[in-house]
Amino acid sequence: MRSIIDKLKNENNLSDNEYLKLITEDIDIQYLYNSADEVRQKYYGKKVFLRGLIEISNYCKNDCLYCGIRKSNKYAQRYRLSKEDIYACCDNGYELGFRTFVLQGGEDAYYTDDVMCEIIKEIKHRYPQCAITLSLGERSYDSYKKMFDAGADRYLLRHETSEEEHYAKLHPENMSLAKRKECLFNLKEIGYQTGSGFMVGSPYQKPENLVSDIRFLQKLKPDMIGIGPFIRHKDTPFANFESGTCEMTLRMLSVLRLTFPKVLLPATTALGTIHPQGRELGLKAGANVVMPNLSPVKSRKLYDLYDNKICTGEEAAECRGCLERRVKSVGYEIVSERGDAIK
Ligand code: SAH
Repeated sequence: MRSIIDKLKNENNLSDNEYLKLITEDIDIQYLYNSADEVRQKYYGKKVFLRGLIEISNYCKNDCLYCGIRKSNKYAQRYRLSKEDIYACCDNGYELGFRTFVLQGGEDAYYTDDVMCEIIKEIKHRYPQCAITLSLGERSYDSYKKMFDAGADRYLLRHETSEEEHYAKLHPENMSLAKRKECLFNLKEIGYQTGSGFMVGSPYQKPENLVSDIRFLQKLKPDMIGIGPFIRHKDTPFANFESGTCEMTLRMLSVLRLTFPKVLLPATTALGTIHPQGRELGLKAGANVVMPNLSPVKSRKLYDLYDNKICTGEEAAECRGCLERRVKSVGYEIVSERGDAIK
């Protein structure tokens, strides 16, 4: 098994069968993590990049079956942040050393192109040296273009799963994988640093799906890949499904690091939610980004994508400090930089 890991490390690619083996078989897992960590350190040293996550709204017109803020969850208490709320989060974040702000939300019609462009311009006016990442779901080419021209630098849109059949089991009929993919290629064409990704252990996911996810990412060539375990939410149709595991997520992080040596790879909040040291373990398995929460404390519990989400009770400064300690505890160091991908 070590030979497959070495091959992936040297060639950044494997056959479908070899990937399947790495994903499913009883391998020398520590060797996999260490190999991924070596590659990560070759390109990024001990640096960990910070992204300040601002959850701007939990209104959503979509009805993704896994997601706690889906339209038909009538128990979700809805909120949206005003422009001033968002600027206040950025002001606070800048003071705390953040140089990237991620504006994420459900697909909320309140945030028209005009509203978004005004917000983007104001943040860029206040903090020209900071990067703005958007994560607002599917929008038209024109919409993406306008927001890019207004100053947005990056966009995160996970493809969630890259096989039609599986996609259809996770999403309502009016959503399509073809549309998702089109959005992702549009984002790249416009010039965004683009992030995609998927959930690990989502309902009905087969190991073969994960190989397809890698193949799709090889076509897309994203700058960032966000993955985290699926975690069930009690008020969704998937309430009774098992959540993904920490082990499989770590394994996939390492496989992704070895396949995409320079990619930006976050140790996600979902990983920290299923295991108390999930994010630290993620960093040791190849991840090089953390995304502490910068949202106002009053809305954090409401951005309820999955059960028991961590970091919903603290101020941004506490989150920042907590992560700083966690990152240090495994020998890495948070840096106050924009943290663009190495080309
Ligand atoms: N509306 C935006 C932001 C979605 S939330 C968009 O469509 O891109 C960000 C990510 O959270 C999603 O892409 C999904 O992969 C993840 N997510 C949603 N529900 C989840 C759950 N139950 N468990 C784990 N991750 C989840």
